[in-house]
Amino acid sequence: MKNPFDLTGKVAIVTGANTGLGQGIAVALAEAGADVGLVTRSPCDETVGYIEKAGRRSHVIKADLSTIEPVERIIKEARESLGGIDILVNNAGIIKRNDSIDFTVEDWDSVMNVNIRTLFFLSQGVARSMIDAGGGGKIINIASMLSYQGGIRVPSYTASKSAVMGLTRILANEWAKHGINVNAIAPGYFATNNTTALQADEKRNAEILGRIPVGRWGQPAELGGAAVFLASSAANYVHGTTLPVDGGWLSR
Ligand code: NAP
Repeated sequence: MKNPFDLTGKVAIVTGANTGLGQGIAVALAEAGADVGLVTRSPCDETVGYIEKAGRRSHVIKADLSTIEPVERIIKEARESLGGIDILVNNAGIIKRNDSIDFTVEDWDSVMNVNIRTLFFLSQGVARSMIDAGGGGKIINIASMLSYQGGIRVPSYTASKSAVMGLTRILANEWAKHGINVNAIAPGYFATNNTTALQADEKRNAEILGRIPVGRWGQPAELGGAAVFLASSAANYVHGTTLPVDGGWLSR
């Protein structure tokens, strides 16, 4: 029987693939058989090495996603270097912390630009490319626990990640007819650069761990299985959902 999670022959693009969850996802997709376009603004040698080790091809696409200027080039480079685009993972994201009463326009715009504006226009460009190619595809957005909850001191992050969940639904509604599955993954608390400040804050760290049923931070590799599932034919009838991978956080 054919393995429904096999991604052999597929091409994926992962944004923010140099570190953290993006690296974990890129490597998991490669281990499942995909070649991967690594969209990054920082050096990405470590991820390239892991993908080589998995026996797959990668291509580094340098891009700063704080504007939508690189969108067309990312798509062109991925198609030309790897032969098409079957999977897009919108992972790149930032967070800014401050009391809402003091929050600046800069901290609002910078987060919204990367986390939702570029995510939308890259998805649109890739969906157009998938529709032209006629083979459908998979788009996976990285949401958050703050797609469900309010959080505290991160207003632009909560707004952007709540928007990711809504956008995932509308794009699924509009693009399912083209054979494109749009879904999201909502990570719980994972040990990455994004959460360094929280992990270092003794009080917040203890509060967070005390609420996670599994009692520990997630590791980036632990997000890989959900990404492989949503990227694979095993998820062909899964549209518009946001899948929490959270050590049980939302069940509390
Ligand atoms: P991370 O280690 O800080 O990684 C964020 C990635 O996004 C990095 O590759 C970063 O590149 C990239 N990025 C940020 N701004 C960019 C820009 N303007 N242009 C290009 N790339 C940019 O954090 P992470 O935890 O892996 O986060 C990955 C995603 O998961 C984010 O969307 C985050 O919101 C989400 N998430 C994380 C957690 C968690 O607990 N860690 C929980 C829920 C959701 P640089 O390395 O160059 O900065």
